[in-house]
Amino acid sequence: MYEPLPQYPDHLALEEEILAWWDEARIFDRLREQNRGGPTFSFMDGPITANNPMGAHHCWGRTLKDVFQRYKALGGHELRYQNGFDCQGLWVEVGVERELGLNSKREIEEYGIAEFAERCKKRVAKYAEIITDQCRRLGMWMDWDNDYYTFSDTNIEYIWRFLKECHNRGWLYLGHRSVEWCPRCGTSLSQHELINSYAELTHPSLYVRFPVKGRAGEALVVWTTTPWTLPANVAAAVNPDAEYGLTEGGQWWAVALNPDATFTKRARGEDLVGLEYDGPFDYLPAQEGVVHRVIPWEDVALDEGTGIVHIAPGAGAEDFELSRVHDLPVLAPIDESGRFYDGYGEFEGRSTQDVEGPVKVELERRGLLVEAGSIEHRYPICWRCSTPLVFRIADDWMIRADEIRQPMLDANATVEWTPDFYAKRMDDWLRNMGDWNISRRRYFGLPLPFYPCDSCGQLTVIGSLEELRGRATGGLDQLQELHRPWIDEVPIRCDCGAEVRRVTEVGDAWLDAGIVPFSTLGWQNAEWKEHGYANGAAGGLTGADLPDHAYWEKWYPADWVSEMREQIRLWFYSQCFMSVTLTGKSPYKAVLTYEKLLDENGREMHRSWGNAIDAAEALENIGADVIRFMFCEHVPSQNLKFGYGPAAEIRRRLLTYWNCVKFFIDYANVDGFRPGPEVPGELQPLDRWLVERTEQLVADITEQYESYWTPGIMRAFDSFVDDLSNWYIRRSRRRFWNSDKVALWTLWQALVRSLQVIGPIMPFLADFLWRRLRAEDAPESVFLESWPELRGRDDQLLREVAEVRQIVELGRQARGDAGVKLRQPLRRLVVQGAAVATGHGDEIADELRVEEVEFAPVEAMEVRVKPNLPVLGPKLGKELGAVRSALEAGEFEQLESGGVRVNGYELGADEILVERRAREGWALASDGFLTVAITTELDEELRGKGRVYELIHQVNTMRKDAGLELTDRIRLTLSEADADLAQYTDWIAEEVLAAEIVFRDVSEPQIAKV
Ligand SMILES: [Zn+2]
Ligand SMILES: [Zn+2]
Repeated sequence: MYEPLPQYPDHLALEEEILAWWDEARIFDRLREQNRGGPTFSFMDGPITANNPMGAHHCWGRTLKDVFQRYKALGGHELRYQNGFDCQGLWVEVGVERELGLNSKREIEEYGIAEFAERCKKRVAKYAEIITDQCRRLGMWMDWDNDYYTFSDTNIEYIWRFLKECHNRGWLYLGHRSVEWCPRCGTSLSQHELINSYAELTHPSLYVRFPVKGRAGEALVVWTTTPWTLPANVAAAVNPDAEYGLTEGGQWWAVALNPDATFTKRARGEDLVGLEYDGPFDYLPAQEGVVHRVIPWEDVALDEGTGIVHIAPGAGAEDFELSRVHDLPVLAPIDESGRFYDGYGEFEGRSTQDVEGPVKVELERRGLLVEAGSIEHRYPICWRCSTPLVFRIADDWMIRADEIRQPMLDANATVEWTPDFYAKRMDDWLRNMGDWNISRRRYFGLPLPFYPCDSCGQLTVIGSLEELRGRATGGLDQLQELHRPWIDEVPIRCDCGAEVRRVTEVGDAWLDAGIVPFSTLGWQNAEWKEHGYANGAAGGLTGADLPDHAYWEKWYPADWVSEMREQIRLWFYSQCFMSVTLTGKSPYKAVLTYEKLLDENGREMHRSWGNAIDAAEALENIGADVIRFMFCEHVPSQNLKFGYGPAAEIRRRLLTYWNCVKFFIDYANVDGFRPGPEVPGELQPLDRWLVERTEQLVADITEQYESYWTPGIMRAFDSFVDDLSNWYIRRSRRRFWNSDKVALWTLWQALVRSLQVIGPIMPFLADFLWRRLRAEDAPESVFLESWPELRGRDDQLLREVAEVRQIVELGRQARGDAGVKLRQPLRRLVVQGAAVATGHGDEIADELRVEEVEFAPVEAMEVRVKPNLPVLGPKLGKELGAVRSALEAGEFEQLESGGVRVNGYELGADEILVERRAREGWALASDGFLTVAITTELDEELRGKGRVYELIHQVNTMRKDAGLELTDRIRLTLSEADADLAQYTDWIAEEVLAAEIVFRDVSEPQIAKV
């Protein structure tokens, strides 16, 4: 006996049951043991930041990773299953700041950097555990005791080696530039942190006069939305090729931007270059000695503002570049926290926002304000804390990108991207990438191993802990790990003999994640160290080993990685940068990437909007299999709408498959039949078809897995389930009632094989059903069974039945259009255009309840042709009328091209409109070459049979409602009004399992169990 299935699956309960069983029966361990020594499949996990519980969007990537790892394991591959956690940098720091209520770098320093670092580590440990639990619940199989943590000393050392290599190649430099800066976090940000981090903000919009020196009554008018930059103004830029005009009010504007003004004087921009003007804040000490002048700049826009741009090189990136070209003084007005330095009078110590009002008041007081308003625009904000960014001059450590750009493009050309157009996105990013800003002025991050010497000017870059120990002049005793503040207490000896200290900056977090193809695989490590990766801050959190170089050779590069699309400029980029630098090749061979998760109405999910669903909530309410189904079915290049509505729809769809399994179990249990590998008799044509159809499923799905295309997997599964349920089972019902073992065996093999191939997508459901259905000598878990082998298929049979199903579909459509119920038999069906279905007339007749099926041209069709006027009108001119009448009268000949010959003209298919209609007494439907026509006329006999079908349906519904078993026999009482159906009693008895049928004076049929 098979363990019976309930009417509906309880996904949540069955998943808990399977999770517990996987653990108890050590299924994952046994899978790994089984595959040890098999061909390798190298997957490299992009680290998830251990800073919060997972959101629903994290489940997307985790699902895809697990699906393909499971698939490869079923194929006998050996995998590493190492999960990674990202552990340091701004994410964690800002998380801890919020936890502690700290809101500035000063407050962190008062709190103590050592204690702050400890809190960061605790936070990572806490969330790593929570994330692990959530991933397990999702069904993700990973080697959870051997995760890599990017804050381990080993990981840090490997980055040091990379940085030393960059230094050896001359790529490392200290950039003195204007950079986007977060005043709250007190650090600059790099190019890849800025993309997509914008908000609609309202800012002041000021038009300001700059009086021209030596030309009384004339002033330049500039437009600015950042009034705080005006105290640092040193120049005004004009477009040298644009035309400018002096208004009657004495204001210089670009003519194009003030079209209604009357100009008393006109000049080209280049004629204004060199003019000097009074700066708006000349009285400030910081402005002392600055000569303000007009400079040329081709990029001055003529679509907004005044065509004259105020230039403050200390407060804008382009302004800073212009200062180099035109040798302008650079006034840097604000410090790390965005507050004005000394030398700025009343603005000193105030933030950029705080001075907006006073700047305006001062301009107004001195008659320099032309107009003041406000503007709403897209403005960059900090990706971490949402503070609006400002520009400031900073010295940042940079890695030059020019030399590595082409090798990276070459490496990317070897990568197989899915969907493929993302390859170009990566190329675009690489072509445009600037130098890599790797320094952050923060606390808990990768300590940059840079030791600049004031005495001799040399920069020493330390490449390993051993090297640090060798050169240290003290502080090693307290060096508990490679983090601040401990690392800062270890000075080294410069080659010149001077003692030098480390710069205080920490590194960009993408260095941490980018190095993992080296640090976790033991690149250039001479000897395997057990638990050798678990050091520094990672000590006690993981048991990960530091493998040796041979291991790296075995597993590098990754066969496959998968992360969301924004990782193109983040992890895919940083990994590629570091790998191409160290080995000259791409760290991954294939990438699957996907877009964003939205709520079910298509809005972005935000906690503050109340529409965010976190992973825990989704798993508890929806269940893992349904979530995984949803992600897998989705085309990854489109945003996904996630929510309870779509989940309910998937649960409903899954029911069809569940019902097929339940149907099999119920009927197999009737006779205690338990199929094995051998067919218990001779396969009938429909059985042969299902065997072939199942082979086709396996082949289709295998191909889709091989190309990392989950929507294709789901499509193949869907259409198979439809064929299984709506064709094989429905057409074989009678055989199941009669306990036909061959039919049961055929259905069983289809179910078992389909479970195998869908297992990676819905592992819980697959194992839950597998444990019931498996042959006695088959492995306990579907994941311990090997992937079904492909064999040759009978494609002819598959094509035939596919066409039969299409004909039946069209027949149903024709009946529906004519308003004839499927239970009403009809006389004749004609099929035109069938290529391979001609041997299946009986099945078609049975399915469509017709007495005869004929494969022949459909004569019941009337073809009406009209001229396509917009095309034919111009062509035929006054002949059109005659052609139209001929067409209407049916005086035309149809051509094979789809066109017609009429009145001596040959008209193409695009020149006419064709309408096919059934003649009186027929119903018609067509699709492409196939046309199906059915007679709709009824006679006595057809009406009688129609009543019999209705009756059978009614009685079977009564049986179900009465809770009868499938095998229970009944006594059926029918109304005397139906006495004319007595000729059909054998038929009725067979269909409703009636032992006896009697006609009595009853108004409705009655049944009684016998
Ligand atoms: Zn910030
Ligand atoms: Zn020195």
